[in-house]
Amino acid sequence: MIPAAFSYTRPASLAEALSLLAGASDGTKVINGGQSLLPLLKLRVAEVDRLIDIGRLGELQGIRPGADGGLVIGGAVPYTAVLASPLVAERCPLLAETIADIGDVQVRNRGTLGGSVAHADPASDLPAAMLALDASFVTRSSAGERVVAADGFFHGAFETDLRPDELLMELRIPGLAAGTGTAYRRLAQPASGYSLVGVAAVVRTDAGRVVDARVGITGVGEVAYRARAVETALLGGSSVADAAAHAADGQVVASDIHADAEYRGAMAVVFTRRAIEAATVRAG
Ligand SMILES: Cc1cc2nc3c(=O)[nH]c(=O)nc-3n(C[C@H](O)[C@H](O)[C@H](O)COP(=O)(O)OP(=O)(O)OC[C@H]3O[C@@H](n4cnc5c(N)ncnc54)[C@H](O)[C@@H]3O)c2cc1C
Repeated sequence: MIPAAFSYTRPASLAEALSLLAGASDGTKVINGGQSLLPLLKLRVAEVDRLIDIGRLGELQGIRPGADGGLVIGGAVPYTAVLASPLVAERCPLLAETIADIGDVQVRNRGTLGGSVAHADPASDLPAAMLALDASFVTRSSAGERVVAADGFFHGAFETDLRPDELLMELRIPGLAAGTGTAYRRLAQPASGYSLVGVAAVVRTDAGRVVDARVGITGVGEVAYRARAVETALLGGSSVADAAAHAADGQVVASDIHADAEYRGAMAVVFTRRAIEAATVRAG
């Protein structure tokens, strides 16, 4: 289908983009890689009066080292740049593992990390990894900057902490302590490739005992979440299988034509176990 008419502006600077957003009406929206927004416009699920294209702003580009062995990734960096980055491979292999199978080449060339996080699709892969990595997001509006923890950023399906006049400037990922292993395991819907269940695990061990664990799950609840009951069980000495059994605790498990709640809940347990097992092996 053809989208309803809208105007298009490509600001030349961040300051211009922020001032356009500051006085914007409800019908104004930011476009980044366009991989989620354009299909919605074409299907007329969403309508806008004006698009502000932030995809080429220099301030939203780049992958650089963060403090303590971490990473800082610009909000308009596409998946392919992350996959090609030696710095990401060295400091945060979980990130590359999580996004390697997203969409196809075109989606990975155009789709951005900032766009994925801002869109908060309940089946997006990246939010699970952001939660497990304890990432935070830097937002900016003409009123100033905020740093928002991933844990708390995702309010619900397609709802985040981002305000209408804010841009997601960068994703900050802390470094991993020695003895930490990470893994992402997903069950993809065969036709769309989207995750029915996606589980990111970050596990630190000491002398074979789990001393730190964070698990982020996508595709199962209304939006990606931290599986705290799983983490608590692991830290309490439960077996991986017993801990994984809590994967969907506290969630209203999604049910749709692709997977009913019973199947999705069961797969959440299976893929949580697999992700934790793989991360634990990698922790050494
Ligand atoms: C065929 C196909 C298959 C896909 N498969 C998968 C998959 O398997 N797994 C998966 O996780 N995803 C999948 N995706 C979704 C894809 O990952 C996202 O569309 C993409 O990452 C979103 O980034 P974008 O830059 O294209 O965002 P856009 O489409 O440009 O924007 C999405 C939303 O975020 C807002 N936004 C974007 N950037 C910012 C910013 N910096 N600050 C504030 N707001 C912002 C926009 O206003 C818009 O509301 C698929 C998409 C397609 C088309």
